[in-house]
Amino acid sequence: MWKWWAARRIEKNIPPSLQDLIAFLGQKGFPAFLVGGSLRSLLLGQKPGDWDFAVEGSSQEIKKIFPDHRGPGGRFGTLLIRWQGRTVELTCLESCSIVQDLWRRDFTINALAWNPQQGLIDPAGGQKDLRRKIIRPTGNPRDRFREDPLRIIRFFRFQAELDFAGTTSLFAAIDPTLLPGVAPERTGAEMDRLLPGIGVEKALQGMLETEVLTSIIPEFNSLLQVPGAVEHVRRTVGAIRPDRDLRWAALLHDIGKGITYNPGNRPLFPDHEKEGARMAEEILTRLRLAHSRVEKITTLIRWHMFELDPMLSDGALRRFISRVGRENVMDLVELRRADIIGTTRQFHRAGPQIQAYLRRIQELLGEDQQFTREDLAIDGHDLMEYFDLEPGPRVGELLDKAHQWILEDPSRNIREEILNYLEQEKK
Ligand code: ATP
Ligand code: MG
Repeated sequence: MWKWWAARRIEKNIPPSLQDLIAFLGQKGFPAFLVGGSLRSLLLGQKPGDWDFAVEGSSQEIKKIFPDHRGPGGRFGTLLIRWQGRTVELTCLESCSIVQDLWRRDFTINALAWNPQQGLIDPAGGQKDLRRKIIRPTGNPRDRFREDPLRIIRFFRFQAELDFAGTTSLFAAIDPTLLPGVAPERTGAEMDRLLPGIGVEKALQGMLETEVLTSIIPEFNSLLQVPGAVEHVRRTVGAIRPDRDLRWAALLHDIGKGITYNPGNRPLFPDHEKEGARMAEEILTRLRLAHSRVEKITTLIRWHMFELDPMLSDGALRRFISRVGRENVMDLVELRRADIIGTTRQFHRAGPQIQAYLRRIQELLGEDQQFTREDLAIDGHDLMEYFDLEPGPRVGELLDKAHQWILEDPSRNIREEILNYLEQEKK
């Protein structure tokens, strides 16, 4: 019954043009199959992210059929071809059969293939594991992890995305000493997918217990010395909105606490947000996140200790917005919201305060006022001309001064008033 239902569900949900592609390749003498993640998603009733195909044929032969192809490239010698207005990934199985190919894949729930002639091909028992919500390597876990240690991190990625459990033998086979051999950008890409997952807290817990997390990010070792800190981080990650950059910020927001820990004294973690931002920059650059993302995440960490006070003056709030960037303010408040839940699990206590603070910020942002130095009604050239200055740091200092002054009261942002003010200040 399940088998019939599964086949129906797959058939009904594969776009007709992709079914055409399978038929087209079949007619040319190359049996083709839909493989991997898209079948997994369909069987779980989710929308597939991408459609991957495998074809029993060599890339030499397949290339001839599709004149405007790209590749083969990547680890699996994948060809990118154009088909009815889409770009499709096609893995050519050179000289192996589809069943042999499935056995080489990482987990049983991914070792699935389908075409209309043969139906669902499932040599490793992937459907059963999907039903039981279990992640199991195809074949011997120890061998599979040794072959490609990235699979250890992929396990936690799928656990977080799907909220599935690992088998006992899978956990027993996890050897964190294999991980330094993994290319950092591959680790970074898997972490990007792991962090927004609904099962992220469980996955992080497993990564801690198996020492996978400290192998990927050794900076967590010092945080483990601070009582309760790692549990707090885990809960904060689970509480923040599931956006990958926010989740990275939550994961690393307290990473500076380990090396600034000052037991028995106040403050307990002096300047941990500054240290943390510096460490996060190192970590994220190492994992090859795009520069703009590293900047965004480290800014959130740098300012996460901001004063959440709805009674602050407009000037103080504008200075804050200008310092962190208007594009980051809402995310910073979101980080604080999660940080509070991660500490107390009692959001209701901080709720009204956060609401009031957000209202204040939204009012200020809504007035479309000036928050950056570039918004000033004067620029460096005006100053050099007016005060007869040479280009140099003095010009920047004056601009800063003017900027701080208009943040107190944006109605001051008028050329003559600013010059008057600076003239007074110079005296
Ligand atoms: P998603 O739909 O989330 O992209 P996916 O299962 O397609 O998930 P990919 O990373 O796109 O994941 O990989 C495509 C397929 O290639 C997987 O389903 C898996 O069968 C196989 N695969 C990918 N990486 C490995 C690996 N390191 N070892 C073995 N098989 C792998
Ligand atoms: Mg995929």
